[in-house]
Amino acid sequence: VATFRVLESLPRSAQVVIVGGGIVGAATAFFARRAGLSPLIIEARPALSTLTTPASTGAFRLQFDNPEEIALVREGIELFASFAEITGLAGLDIGMRVQGYLFCTTTESGAVRQREWVRAQHEWGVHDVEILSGDEARYRFPHISRDVVQARFRAGDGFLKPKRVALGLAAASRAGICLETLVTGFEVSGGVVKTVHTNRGSISCEHVVDAAGPFSGKLAAMAGLDIDVRPRRRMKLTMPDVPEVPAHAPMTIDEETVAHWRPGMNGAYALFTDPSTPVADPEWNVRPDSQFAFDLLSPASERSLARISPFWAELAERGEPDWLLHAGQYEYTADHRPMLGPSAIPNFHLNCGYSGHGIMGSPGGARVVVDQIVGRLKPRDNPFDPNRAMVERPFDIL
Ligand SMILES: Cc1cc2nc3c(=O)[nH]c(=O)nc-3n(C[C@H](O)[C@H](O)[C@H](O)COP(=O)(O)OP(=O)(O)OC[C@H]3O[C@@H](n4cnc5c(N)ncnc54)[C@H](O)[C@@H]3O)c2cc1C
Repeated sequence: VATFRVLESLPRSAQVVIVGGGIVGAATAFFARRAGLSPLIIEARPALSTLTTPASTGAFRLQFDNPEEIALVREGIELFASFAEITGLAGLDIGMRVQGYLFCTTTESGAVRQREWVRAQHEWGVHDVEILSGDEARYRFPHISRDVVQARFRAGDGFLKPKRVALGLAAASRAGICLETLVTGFEVSGGVVKTVHTNRGSISCEHVVDAAGPFSGKLAAMAGLDIDVRPRRRMKLTMPDVPEVPAHAPMTIDEETVAHWRPGMNGAYALFTDPSTPVADPEWNVRPDSQFAFDLLSPASERSLARISPFWAELAERGEPDWLLHAGQYEYTADHRPMLGPSAIPNFHLNCGYSGHGIMGSPGGARVVVDQIVGRLKPRDNPFDPNRAMVERPFDIL
């Protein structure tokens, strides 16, 4: 259903040059077209959406700890829920499964913290987050361990196929797309970007959007900008065939260890976010580490999935399921919120720094960037203004 306008040769000029053909670049192109602009996507690799976007778990949630990110992701969920209608791509199935996010705690202090969070979320308008006692959680979700004392749950959270969304947005944007085209520099004169240089030639432009994911800092540096984006490796364990996984289970998260899993394919995807992972250079091929799989699957591991979902221990006893690993990089900002809008160069716009939330955040984020390009939104009214004062944020759980 999703067909793109791949260009054989590089155009000489373009109104909005979007660097990066992942989900963020595709969403930018989609909202740019809706705002009456003419977008061009430049992608270094031979195909769209092949770096970070397909490494993700494709999950979305409104269970955040601040109202701004809730509002941003809410826009995305609204788009996902009516994707085929809004994009005009009749019949396109983005694999959306609204099965909820279940955060489980095994400690009393965790239970207190959960209740505080949920109270705040209700105040911010997310009224449908529930607190479940351990027994209520087990009644609804029999895979939950007896050690879970409480859970918070929102039935409207869920997951989808991120690559389908990205390709759908790129197609619906009717953007020209240049593949195997590496942006190598910019001509900045009179304080604005005039030209984008690539390995295939140069393009003069009115606006540039940096949607280069983990490479966004490097790309900005080519224009002389110093932005604080810190790539860190994140991995995903895929177990494609595990019949024991309850297919209708929610994203199931251990609040204490940050290990989490969700049904996917005929099995599950499992992850955890290790705060000790060092900041690294951006990479075109991110190599996974098999220790990640053992940490999640071994019942003896402190990050074992079996801590809150005991069926994983039974599986491990019979020999671990077949698995494979995928790796990508989160691009963290200091406050773990994206940078959306004009940089110190007014026509060089940032759409990056999603800090691990770029699937769910990309529609709202792209809309915010485009609204600033067309003057519908002022940086002072934008909580994600790249020039904001950032407060260093400790690692939250996902
Ligand atoms: C293991 C893992 C799990 C995740 N799970 C989730 C989740 O459940 N939910 C969620 O919301 N988010 C999740 N994320 C985060 C999400 O995947 C990212 O935030 C999102 O994919 C970022 O999209 P992007 O388009 O910015 O980056 P990318 O997909 O990396 O796209 C950037 C593109 O820019 C191109 N590029 C870079 N430099 C240049 C250049 N100089 N010239 C031309 N092209 C260039 C690259 O080739 C690449 O295709 C996860 C991430 C990982 C790694």
